Amino acid sequence: MTQPHHRRTRIVATLGPATDPPEVLEAVLRAGVDVVRLNFSHGDPSAQVARGEAVRAMAAKIGREVGILADLPGPKIRVETFAAGKVQLKAGNRFDLVASLDAPPGDETQVGVSYLELTGDVKPGDVLLLDDGIVQLQVDAVQGERIVTTVLNDCVLSNRKGLNKQGGGLSLGAITEKDRELIAIAAGMEVDFIAVSFCRNAEDMHEARRVAKAHGSNAALVSKIERAEAIENLAEIVDASDVVMVARGDLGVEIGDAELPGLQKKIIREAVAREKVVITATQMLQSMVDSPIPTRAEVLDVANAVIDGTDAVMLSQESAAGSWPVKAVEAMARICVGAEKQFVADTDFEQARRGLERADQAIAMATMFLSEHIGVRGVVAMTESGGTARFLSRFRSAVPIYAFSRHAPARRKMALMRDVFPMDYDSRGQTPREAARGSIRMLVEAGWLEPGDRVVFTSGEHMETRGATNTLRLLEIGVDGRAEGLGEL
Ligand code: PGA
Ligand code: MN
Repeated sequence: MTQPHHRRTRIVATLGPATDPPEVLEAVLRAGVDVVRLNFSHGDPSAQVARGEAVRAMAAKIGREVGILADLPGPKIRVETFAAGKVQLKAGNRFDLVASLDAPPGDETQVGVSYLELTGDVKPGDVLLLDDGIVQLQVDAVQGERIVTTVLNDCVLSNRKGLNKQGGGLSLGAITEKDRELIAIAAGMEVDFIAVSFCRNAEDMHEARRVAKAHGSNAALVSKIERAEAIENLAEIVDASDVVMVARGDLGVEIGDAELPGLQKKIIREAVAREKVVITATQMLQSMVDSPIPTRAEVLDVANAVIDGTDAVMLSQESAAGSWPVKAVEAMARICVGAEKQFVADTDFEQARRGLERADQAIAMATMFLSEHIGVRGVVAMTESGGTARFLSRFRSAVPIYAFSRHAPARRKMALMRDVFPMDYDSRGQTPREAARGSIRMLVEAGWLEPGDRVVFTSGEHMETRGATNTLRLLEIGVDGRAEGLGEL
């Protein structure tokens, strides 16, 4: 039997109007989406709740494990509205931002901003970037609630566009009142991931975790790295997160696009080294909002993120609001598989050995060492929470990791990890040896392993206990291809 090809990089797709027709949702999931993103910055929360329910139902129908990520809006500062919906701004003209709750509707000379502390965060000479940098304003003076600026380029500014400061430094806390309400909604939906936008430091992540826990949510927390401050505090943020997102949209606005390639590599490296999962996001296949095929530059961008070692790549508008959501997922899947062939496994065991603190980490390292050096077809891991799978997959080897858990939330969290293939298996009442037979039989029946293949099997001596993985067995599948023929080497 031939081995089915395994895509090892994960795909996150943002849902939106384009994926709402059930046949489109079914097609994007079948095309290979591992985790869907619900973007709570847009539209009514109830629309996102409905999408979450539709995903759970569709995933069950097609027999796929699909994670749900709720993305919080965070403290994005926005201009208020214009009397005419939008205005044309001319380079060299004066344009004022009025930090007041009762600013009049905007026009060519001014617009309101409801973040009242903005006046304290800017000084003459600062450059403010609106609408992802399309609109550039230089601050001349702060007069009471009024920020006097000069327009730097001819441009159009429309209602509720976002505002960043070049170089960062806007002081807003990351978890807003609105975010707290949305965390409660996300907890009620039992989402698998909650993303914190514009986080500044570890404390922002701790705060989000406290709020989530208070609402009974055990979701994995995603820190979106999109502020200059987050780069300064990267190590502590990664340690306080389960997942890290390279949020290239806002990050590029604050830091400048020239710094992005280096930062993407740094964030991915830092996340993997600290044993966390990492998503690379924004404008990966942007032209596919309107076009059925990606540009060559986009193909290279997705591929390079894979070669950089990302766990997952993400679609935003391409899937949520584009004309070709299914083709965008198909393109991403195809490019990932192609790029994986170019990825050179770089398992630095010397480096890894220094940081070992826990038994399951040590077993993971030994497992990957064996896999690399003895040549096995797969790692089979019994895992309660998914922790063992995460440690195993941080080694970025070329060996697939089949991670068996009876807990659906654990399997959906593992759906975001590179090289990991979550499997449903209930090992209650079984000895580790029986669990090895049962799980390996499933893989043989699925055609993923065959007689003569060697695998490394890891489990806890006492199964069903979180963080208790402490054994490793090197096994060979018997000639009859059945688990009964399983013998230890
Ligand atoms: P957003 O985050 O799409 O919510 O803005 C991602 C980014 O900024 O890149
Ligand atoms: Mn963003």
